[in-house]
Amino acid sequence: MPERVIPLVDIRSSGRPLAVPEQLRAPTGVLTDRRRRPLRDLRISVTDRCNFRCSYCMPKEVFGPDHPYLPHASLLSFEEITRLARLFLAHGVRKIRLTGGEPLLRKNIEVLVAQLARLRTVDGLPPDITLTTNGSLLVRKARQLREAGLQRVTVSLDGLDDTVFRRMNDVDFPVADVLAGIAAAQAAGLGPIKVNMVVKRGTNEQEILPMARHFRGSGVVLRFIEYMDVGVTNGWRMDEVLPSAEVVRLLQSAWPMVPLEASAAGETAQRWGYAGADGRFDPRLGEIGVISSVTQAFCSDCNRARLSTEGKLFLCLFASEGHDLRALLRSGASDAELSGALAKVWGEREDRYSELRGSLQGRSTARVEMSYIGG
Ligand code: SAM
Ligand code: SF4
Ligand code: SF4
Repeated sequence: MPERVIPLVDIRSSGRPLAVPEQLRAPTGVLTDRRRRPLRDLRISVTDRCNFRCSYCMPKEVFGPDHPYLPHASLLSFEEITRLARLFLAHGVRKIRLTGGEPLLRKNIEVLVAQLARLRTVDGLPPDITLTTNGSLLVRKARQLREAGLQRVTVSLDGLDDTVFRRMNDVDFPVADVLAGIAAAQAAGLGPIKVNMVVKRGTNEQEILPMARHFRGSGVVLRFIEYMDVGVTNGWRMDEVLPSAEVVRLLQSAWPMVPLEASAAGETAQRWGYAGADGRFDPRLGEIGVISSVTQAFCSDCNRARLSTEGKLFLCLFASEGHDLRALLRSGASDAELSGALAKVWGEREDRYSELRGSLQGRSTARVEMSYIGG
């Protein structure tokens, strides 16, 4: 069979310059886009490097030993990230998620967490700070992160079977070490912990029930994510997507389950609770979530902005271009100017890729990679 050739469109260097509006208005704490979606959630990618090579995200054929990662000087410094985060909070952001690449590979990440934890939302509260990680370094880092002010972690884990897991991370990393990382995070008080499992038909669907059985009643919320067409390097195909509806059917064949209310507006996961003998949700047995990014678009209340490792602002996970906040930041712009530029760009936002996916098929080729922008 001929080797699969995967085009890598490097769109990291392109970026739209950000315009500073002539009239600078002070932030009001509520910023809505053209579809009336408020800005609430900021995801910050702190590195484009990773020690795993999950085939759906950083396939080895593309992210090989010679891959040109971003040089250190291109990355936003902790001070730059914290300054921008403060401006985002003034516009209504409540929740900050650190991601990557693998965020725990960024040196002294706990120092950034401590800086962010000192910021305040418009309600005068500390922001809700969380982090998504592959869990490989949690045993070493969980306690320091908690002490720095991190509240929760989400750990990605695609199966319990060691052979399947080692194949999926493609660096032969043992599942036992991730489970130890989850235990360390629980012991450090970084809960309730969420575990994200990307389900790929034909690769790890047989792990759905063992994963559910393992985490049922453990206090960990397991979430099943549909394999998405993020980036262009993973060679995504619709027939490898296992729709969440099938996941729920499979779980219901093993346990009685009841639908639960969404925990917050803009929440990406649909929640299902394990029912007790009386047929009602039993919180001791816990809940699962399904994230149906492909089969059920949730753009209508998407309140997430994404800041890339080198300071580009992305308004959608599937955007082909970011807005260059770093250039403006490093040009000596004032807080008022940066804040005005942010307000302008969010105010003009119209993105809703998942809703349009069907009609765009095949025409959207230059998409940003997940490892660069984070989940
Ligand atoms: N390295 C960290 C990790 O794996 O948790 C953080 C970054 S990773 C890009 C964030 C999340 O994106 C992970 O939960 C990962 O499973 C998910 N992800 C990556 N590529 C994906 C894809 N093609 N479809 C669905 N989820 C994906
Ligand atoms: Fe790394 Fe996370 Fe991507 Fe896997 S999903 S390759 S752990 S960044
Ligand atoms: Fe938000 Fe874009 Fe995903 Fe829609 S496709 S939910 S706009 S990130």
